[in-house]
Amino acid sequence: MERQFTKEIESLRLGDGEVFHGEGILAVTKALLQSGVSYVGGYQGAPVSHLLDVMVQAKDYLDELGVHVEACTSEASAAAMLGASINYPARGAVTWKSIVGTNVAADALSYLASAGVMGGTLIVLGEDYGEGGVVAQERSHSFAMKSMMWLLDPRPNLTTIVDMVEQGFALSETSNTPVMMELRIRACHLRSSFSSKKNHAPAVSALHRLEGPPKEFIYDRLAHPPAIFRQEKLKSDVRLPAARKFIMERRLNEMFAGSENVGVIVQGGLFNGLMRALRTLGLADAFGATRLPVLALNVVYPLVPEEIIGFAKDKKAILILEEGQPEFIEHEIAAFLRRADAPAKLHGKDVMHMAGEYNLEAMVRGVSRFLGQHAPHLDASSGLQWLNAMEKNKTQASALLGALPVRPPTFCVGCPERPVFSAMKLVANDIGRPHVSMDVGCHAFASFEPFSQGNTLLGYGMSLAAAAGVGPMSAKRSVSVMGDGGFWHNGLLSGVASNLLNKGDGVLVIMKNGYASATGTQELLSSPPEDARMIAVGNSAAGADRTIENTLTGLGVKWLRTVNNYDVAAMSRTYREAMTTPEKGLKVIVAEGECQLERQRRLKPQVAEKLKNGKRHVRVKYGVDEDTCTGDHSCIRLSGCPTLTVKDNPDPLRRDPVATVIDGCVGCGLCGENAHAAVLCPSFYRAEVIQNPTLLDRLFQRIL
Ligand code: SF4
Ligand code: SF4
Repeated sequence: MERQFTKEIESLRLGDGEVFHGEGILAVTKALLQSGVSYVGGYQGAPVSHLLDVMVQAKDYLDELGVHVEACTSEASAAAMLGASINYPARGAVTWKSIVGTNVAADALSYLASAGVMGGTLIVLGEDYGEGGVVAQERSHSFAMKSMMWLLDPRPNLTTIVDMVEQGFALSETSNTPVMMELRIRACHLRSSFSSKKNHAPAVSALHRLEGPPKEFIYDRLAHPPAIFRQEKLKSDVRLPAARKFIMERRLNEMFAGSENVGVIVQGGLFNGLMRALRTLGLADAFGATRLPVLALNVVYPLVPEEIIGFAKDKKAILILEEGQPEFIEHEIAAFLRRADAPAKLHGKDVMHMAGEYNLEAMVRGVSRFLGQHAPHLDASSGLQWLNAMEKNKTQASALLGALPVRPPTFCVGCPERPVFSAMKLVANDIGRPHVSMDVGCHAFASFEPFSQGNTLLGYGMSLAAAAGVGPMSAKRSVSVMGDGGFWHNGLLSGVASNLLNKGDGVLVIMKNGYASATGTQELLSSPPEDARMIAVGNSAAGADRTIENTLTGLGVKWLRTVNNYDVAAMSRTYREAMTTPEKGLKVIVAEGECQLERQRRLKPQVAEKLKNGKRHVRVKYGVDEDTCTGDHSCIRLSGCPTLTVKDNPDPLRRDPVATVIDGCVGCGLCGENAHAAVLCPSFYRAEVIQNPTLLDRLFQRIL
């Protein structure tokens, strides 16, 4: 795993009144233990990966408490795990990245929400929306609404977040309904502190086991006809009123008083941004005192009509700050106000933009528009001055800088996936470009320059399935690329099994780097055991396990090759064969090479230890002979490695910059392999940098 949480795991043991310092998402982890959770599961993904990573690393302590932790193979397995709380008084929590994870979990969530729960269930969603998001920009809100599960959106403040976790379980139990809690990127990574409580060992757990299933068989707990018809009625007739009562009584939503008769209703997660906007407008101070009354919705679904109408009754106008589309909260509030004949004017998306994040600039602009219509007496000129200064800065910066070169994200230095795309690019030069169906994972970086391969991306593990319609209507075989993470998440069944059932053709490249790398190098079913992780390139850790190959063979894949990624010539040969062989059926290339990030993470402390102890260490580095380099840069176009770059040509008679390898090179060998496979100019050399050389090394050097 890319990060060790030793210090954070210690914080999980804090007791009553002790102060927890740390990230928002780790505060949630502690809050789960304070809430007496019996089991935790999930599928990693930013911004909530750390929750599960900490739990997995804290196994010894969780065993002491009797808490079971499951690193699920997909969000669907995680959601189904919550089924433990349908019949038993066990609290459970799962986590994943949303919206994508919620989509994958949708089936189990529908059934869970229909059956209802006895033990509290909390689904912690990493709401990957807005600037910094990496998935299709949709909201989790619609899922909560359509299944009638409650949705918390706590104000980004550790005490509030922890409180909402604890209240969330109680809300879930009171209303027999699963509860979701969305946390945006900023809330997850916010650093602050809160006063801890001691952890509760769960009532039902690995230490206090159930004697058996419930004594009385309750058919109604099964989401199956005819029970589903009653369950649908229970949702609106019993569970919803119970939830609203609880939200009101426990004051889960927070009211911040102000002196004006116009107010703002804001999603809890946007509260900090709103306060900064009000401060910029001169309407709030740094400690949260505001002239505009604010209702912060820590629970965004369900809304409580009495609470909304109570807030609106003495207001001339209300502004709803609700990020993203469509405006579910605004629609619901409009209905409440209309039904109650409340006179307050309602604003929201008419003064704010519909799609995209509400950053500070957007909020200052939107609140100014709202105040301009309903509170023109308020002096908000400081906000307008700030906006004008921002505009001026931007205009000046763009005039000074001109058009900046695009800098797309790319693979890590020495990544084993880069050589595969070099090979695919080389072969495409000869046989033409095929349709490439891309998947979620690091390999999606190949969609950018210099590889520009990847025509579609339809979800995690979906690349082969996404090519099913393209292949039969294409003259050339289509190619699907999938990571080993995607293979186990969804690709094996949705892709491979479906292709075999339908006697499909096409080429599937599986990047076997040993881990779910893009989410933080979490372990997979096919991760090699710790003691089999070797350090030499090519002799890769990923190769220590054959589970993927054995599974494919067992399913009936006939054409299967495993190739060392860094051997570009062998990869090109194999890929060309897969693309051109007359043999019908799925052709799978398992491209094997350990994730360089994970490899370096393991190697760095070993090397540092060697150097500290004065031991000899040899580091391989590649370089370019600047006298030989022709300056055509075809090596760069084939590699894309950030440490292979250009510098001024030292020859005054030649103008083209020459290629050069800067210090970050990890010696993966791709440069030499590419030069060889593509018959480039012979300018690359391999050097060995010897640290702490021996007498023999020094002698040898003198002789040379
Ligand atoms: S994390 Fe690993 S697989 Fe992903 S780009 Fe970096 S080296 Fe490659
Ligand atoms: S050998 Fe080439 S591709 Fe590999 S890390 Fe060094 S510069 Fe990058």
